[in-house]
Amino acid sequence: MTDDLGKLFAHAHGTRAAVIGGGVAGLIAAREFAKVGMTVTVLEASGRLGGAIRAGEVDGIPLDLGAESFATRGGHVRTLIDELGLADAVVEPNRAGAWIAGLPGGKAAPLPKGGILGIPANPFADDVRRVIGWGGAWRAYLDRLRPPLTIGHERSLGRLVRSRLGSAVLDRLVAPVTSGVYSARPDDIDPDIAAPGLNAALTRAGSLTGAVAELSAPREGRAPGSAVLGLDGGMGRLVDALAAALRAQGVELRTGFPVDAIERTADGWRILSAEESADADVVVVATEEGPARRLLAPHVESLAAEPAVPGPVVHVVTLVLAAPSLDAAPRGTGVLTVPGSFRAKALTHATAKWGWIAERAGSGRHVVRVSFGSQGEPPVTDGMSDEQIAALAVEEASAMLGVPLTRSRLRGFAIERYAQSQPAATIGLREATERTRTAIRAVPALGAVGAWLAGTGLAQVVPDARDEADRVRRGALFG
Ligand SMILES: Cc1cc2nc3c(=O)[nH]c(=O)nc-3n(C[C@H](O)[C@H](O)[C@H](O)COP(=O)(O)OP(=O)(O)OC[C@H]3O[C@@H](n4cnc5c(N)ncnc54)[C@H](O)[C@@H]3O)c2cc1C
Repeated sequence: MTDDLGKLFAHAHGTRAAVIGGGVAGLIAAREFAKVGMTVTVLEASGRLGGAIRAGEVDGIPLDLGAESFATRGGHVRTLIDELGLADAVVEPNRAGAWIAGLPGGKAAPLPKGGILGIPANPFADDVRRVIGWGGAWRAYLDRLRPPLTIGHERSLGRLVRSRLGSAVLDRLVAPVTSGVYSARPDDIDPDIAAPGLNAALTRAGSLTGAVAELSAPREGRAPGSAVLGLDGGMGRLVDALAAALRAQGVELRTGFPVDAIERTADGWRILSAEESADADVVVVATEEGPARRLLAPHVESLAAEPAVPGPVVHVVTLVLAAPSLDAAPRGTGVLTVPGSFRAKALTHATAKWGWIAERAGSGRHVVRVSFGSQGEPPVTDGMSDEQIAALAVEEASAMLGVPLTRSRLRGFAIERYAQSQPAATIGLREATERTRTAIRAVPALGAVGAWLAGTGLAQVVPDARDEADRVRRGALFG
């Protein structure tokens, strides 16, 4: 134990910490409190821990039904995995990459290599031209000729790309990436957050494609290889290992405890559900944005003044198909779509992407994840029965993969529904989140963690929850 943790440990004995929400953010916060000897309870509404890391089994294959990978950025998730003894389970995805479908004439093509947020460095490169055509390439080339005078600090990614490179690049390269990866339209995205350094490079290089070329060039010290990794057996193993480590530290993990309210008491907090209550000295709210705001609002006045804009609702349909025609991975590891061309938003061919899934599925059996819904566009699957959703997902998978597939090929399916917060790169959101954070931090012995504050993705959520829990425990122990 470091001296610093030792000091905290000396003060922590007997301090009760309650964490509301047992997703990864809540589990990480609980771990920080347990490290210094606090008495910790995690209260999770559903019957299982992990939140958006959701392990399941379809047709006998253990699978991730939610988050399936982690970004290597920052190294925080990797460190956590190593600490939990899962280093040997880390696996790389297949590097074949995804395709873009819904191009004119119903065509599909591989997503060009390199580039940033779909913006190419060279519009005439063969793989780029295959997507945007000669007309699109010549229009994009104007970017190199346009006077640098018009280059400024453009706040909307959509406006920036449209004005410099034209609509073919915007609609066929950038929009599929932002919609598939961030569930957001390019017009709503702040390039400074989604692609830090792009604006500055634009000013230096004098063109957007030049800026992308500069930023994506191999640099000394930058590790080559994949930006995301996974775990053999699924990301659910991370939750299991975290939960086991917490139990070993004496943390109480309670599921089926939906918290309705938190109230101030003379010496701390009371956490209330319909049937029971718990007392604590410090509370961290680690739920999704909606419930977090409801729980925090009575104690953080300014929250009501800035109500949340609802984020995307995403339905993920995991299909297991008996389909030897997919053995050849006709669309690499998956498909992003030109918005408006399909009813689904994106598809992951999981047996093509992850060797461990292919191994468990065996020859001729395939796992395909089809997702519906994006920011501002409720999923078309809303209100449908499970059978209808599965049938639609097979139809969409067939069209997106360019392979005839019928319902008779379906061996099993799972449907998971997720309400996400607005993408962190949404214009203006960073400032609003900072104001929210400042207001929450002003309340003693209270904290909030999770993707709605940290940004979506384990690489954001994990270090943020750790730092925020550290701030709360220091505040509680040293005042
Ligand atoms: C479909 C999908 C795929 C994703 N894929 C990836 C990926 O591949 N890589 C990646 O890095 N990230 C991915 N993400 C994002 C990542 O999973 C999330 O950012 C992260 O898991 C969020 O963790 P969290 O703890 O903040 O919230 P959550 O995981 O949402 O956890 C919140 C928890 O709070 C509980 N809760 C809610 N209300 C209450 C209440 N009143 N009382 C008690 N408990 C309550 C919920 O039941 C839930 O368990 C994906 C997300 C989704 C939806």
